[in-house]
Amino acid sequence: MTHFKNYIGGTWQSGAEELPNINPSDTSDVVGQIAMGDGAALEAAVAAAKAAAPGWAHSTPQQRFDILDAVGSEILARKAELGALLSREEGKTLPEGIGEVGRAGQLFKFFAGETLRISGDVLASVRPGISVEVTREPLGVVGLITPWNFPMAIPAWKIAPALAYGNAVVFKPSEVAPGCAWALADMLDRAGLPAGVFNMVIGKGSSVGEAMVHHPDIAGISFTGSIATGKRIAAGCVARQARVQLEMGGKNPMIVLDDADLTTAVNCSANGAFFSTGQRCTASSRLIVTEGIHDRFVRALEENMKALKVDHALKEGTQIGPVIDERQLQKNLFYLGVAREEGAVVRGGEILKRDSDGYFMAPALFTETRNDMRINREEIFGPTASVIRVKNYEEALAVANDTEFGLSSGICTTSLKYARHFQRHAQAGMVMVNLPTAGVDYHVPFGGRKGSSYGTREQGKYAAEFYTIVKTAYVAG
Ligand code: NAP
Repeated sequence: MTHFKNYIGGTWQSGAEELPNINPSDTSDVVGQIAMGDGAALEAAVAAAKAAAPGWAHSTPQQRFDILDAVGSEILARKAELGALLSREEGKTLPEGIGEVGRAGQLFKFFAGETLRISGDVLASVRPGISVEVTREPLGVVGLITPWNFPMAIPAWKIAPALAYGNAVVFKPSEVAPGCAWALADMLDRAGLPAGVFNMVIGKGSSVGEAMVHHPDIAGISFTGSIATGKRIAAGCVARQARVQLEMGGKNPMIVLDDADLTTAVNCSANGAFFSTGQRCTASSRLIVTEGIHDRFVRALEENMKALKVDHALKEGTQIGPVIDERQLQKNLFYLGVAREEGAVVRGGEILKRDSDGYFMAPALFTETRNDMRINREEIFGPTASVIRVKNYEEALAVANDTEFGLSSGICTTSLKYARHFQRHAQAGMVMVNLPTAGVDYHVPFGGRKGSSYGTREQGKYAAEFYTIVKTAYVAG
């Protein structure tokens, strides 16, 4: 049995208590025992990070490059094995799990490269005989808090830039799927990272997470998770003037216009709505369809949906794995009930029996819905999507933007005019044309607008905005 321990000051430490890490495809399969950290473990982790931070801040780009590049190479070399661990603990299918691990490896490689490109500006002063230098310095100790739904990629896209730009890290993964985080800590340890530069405390958000938010020695928190938690974290950080970056939920629209290629529209919608069991912040949960194609689209999507194979994440041929746990399954069923009460027609959504005892649910489609229904305002985070019928592109755009969220957005059309107009007018951080709303590159910014995000962007060179602080120096002579 693997013990997913905490990693503090360069040593592996047991937790105050242990919890089982359960495979959602087969609840009799215990992936490992999780060492649950507490307040004392967090204090030790912050102290270790604080002690190590100055040394790491002054490490050379080459030292940082070598460690991040080595971790990236190991992740890529072990893609199949780590992908299987990810799928076993989180429930996305094996190809999806391997894909996510590959992305994590590329993220480490990308930020290894960024260590060699950290630069500043030299300007002439407006005063004679003075030069001005603008440089970037690390924040110090940063706190990273991540959710369960991308247990390898999201930690990677926070840990790699944090270290690349010279920060020491205290990392709290979700205890729902901590095996991947533990594997990352193990690789960082063996790659030769000095003790204390990276620390991991697995523990409850309500105790360890809260303590991080309020800790005076943590200079900034980068968080990915739900809106409710994000708002709480922002309030705590702002009160003590700590830097904060939040990536949160979505209610992402996918517009399908009359002139769309039907196969493209159905494939993009099914992929965006149901793949990864709909447990993606970028999932297409509102399918906004113009009336000329509406009925054909719904018929074709329903056919596509019925053919999707829902089963054990590691079984060959599975297209949709289980829901993460009983709590999320009950939440999905609750919203099926809300959809019926609100007058939507509900197709699919049955609980499925498979060979193993897991949280299997058929994808669900809600039709005849309006944008003001609860099912179209609140993030469900399951394999469900609503169809909203609209008259034309103008109404589709207005409905797409009529939401408190603004993470991803998509349009299926063969019209360059509408595609370009949507690209400019979608109130979202990411726009997809004839592509699913989910599925992004690792080297470009990721993030949203409105209620979905707060603070600077993650990923790509834009990550430097969060993980560094600018200094302006005036030098006479
Ligand atoms: P969550 O419940 O907000 O938890 C996220 C993380 O925050 C977990 O590590 C959690 O610990 C911790 N946490 C909980 N309460 C806390 C508190 N009071 N203070 C500090 N930390 C606290 O979210 P989730 O259910 O794991 O993830 C699903 C959500 O993440 C969805 O809303 C999804 O849209 C969003 N998400 C967004 C993005 C994006 O980039 N925009 C990407 C992926 C997911 P515990 O595990 O102990 O609760």
